Amino acid sequence: MNLRPLLAASLLLVFTAPLPAADDDVRQLVEQKLNNEYPALEAIYKDLHTHPELSFMEVRTAALVARELRALGFAVTEKVGGMGVVGVLQNGPGPTVMVRADMDALPIKEETGLPYASTVVGKDVSGREYPVMHACAHDTHVTGLIGTARMLAATKEHWSGTLICVGQHAEEAVGGARSMLTDGLYTRFPRPDFVIALHTLSDMPAGQLYCIEGPAYANVDSVDITVRGFGGHGSRPQTTRDPIVLTAQIINSLQTIVSRELKPGVPAVVTVGTIHGGARRNIIPDEVKLELTLRSYDEAVADHLIASIRRIALNLAQAAGMPADRLPVVTVAEHRNPVTVNDAALARRLNGVFRTWFGEARVTPAEAATYGEDFTEYGRTVPRVPIAIFSVGGTDPAKWAEAQKTGAPLPGNHSALFAPLPEPTMKTGITAMSAAVLDLLAKK
Ligand SMILES: [Zn+2]
Ligand SMILES: [Zn+2]
Repeated sequence: MNLRPLLAASLLLVFTAPLPAADDDVRQLVEQKLNNEYPALEAIYKDLHTHPELSFMEVRTAALVARELRALGFAVTEKVGGMGVVGVLQNGPGPTVMVRADMDALPIKEETGLPYASTVVGKDVSGREYPVMHACAHDTHVTGLIGTARMLAATKEHWSGTLICVGQHAEEAVGGARSMLTDGLYTRFPRPDFVIALHTLSDMPAGQLYCIEGPAYANVDSVDITVRGFGGHGSRPQTTRDPIVLTAQIINSLQTIVSRELKPGVPAVVTVGTIHGGARRNIIPDEVKLELTLRSYDEAVADHLIASIRRIALNLAQAAGMPADRLPVVTVAEHRNPVTVNDAALARRLNGVFRTWFGEARVTPAEAATYGEDFTEYGRTVPRVPIAIFSVGGTDPAKWAEAQKTGAPLPGNHSALFAPLPEPTMKTGITAMSAAVLDLLAKK
């Protein structure tokens, strides 16, 4: 065994190791500042949680972000691409870092029973009313943005460059990131050298974090199927073409796309999220409507899923004897929310910073998930801007440990029962985001 490369590597490590003294200084400063500010930040979090707003309707949340950033000396512009808020803090020469937090909530009736649970019934962009809940923890992201802005404003002598804090509307409905870019996010404001964000997730215990070094979130395609038939009396099926039975066959056959058509191990999901058809037990209806979400990591796989859905729907309908003018209608949403690919070098750099600040044990590698994120849009401009979104655990570690033993499922993001544990979740998120910005804007 030749030891020379090993020796060279260890020497390199010695010479490139961070200087601990200066690091410790700013780390302590952030820790103290965050401990002092935490009660006020938790109050902001609870206020946001109690007052969630649906996509494109984030009036109150956007106003809060604008007010908080202005108070810290940021130059703030509101209504960027809709409800988007952009705050710019210039602090000498150096790179520009953009931190993004999504602000919207979901049409879900909260059932957590928390004292600060939402009872809001709010309107969506079309005017329809829904119960509204921060079930994807975007309230922790908004609080995290405000907390990070406070930490960076208080440590200005330790960094040099430009910090841009962005409150983005409409992540869940997809469209917020694109509308902000279209409205000049990269041209009316300093163009970022790095864009970073975090997401609080139920599938990690609070206190843990990780930045996936490559593809992190999936392609999302939305597909609707209208299965048409020829209705009639439930007692006389021979006079009809039953779309309910056909729908059952189609849904079963869709399960074979991932299990039989794709190479084992290729990540893909075909989920039928809604099925609506029929009014009475004794009426065979004329049609059944389905809404699907598709996830994949590859454009070719995404196209394959859609082609297979069309093939299965069409051919099963023909096998059922559906006339040519009653074949299923498959509609694919025009916009594919593309896979979110973290810049590998940036993600590695962030994980290095996290290990230094939190210790190895709290930075546990996580697998790419089939969630979707419109954060991907920030990294798809020409020229390309390196982006990275990291995951922060949200689940109470005691409940996490218990679930590991019993195997009982824990409420996840988008569940009416999802309740992140505020303090460790947000302290980890704010510390991590502050550490990331301090590193990317370190004084040379
Ligand atoms: Zn979500
Ligand atoms: Zn989310």
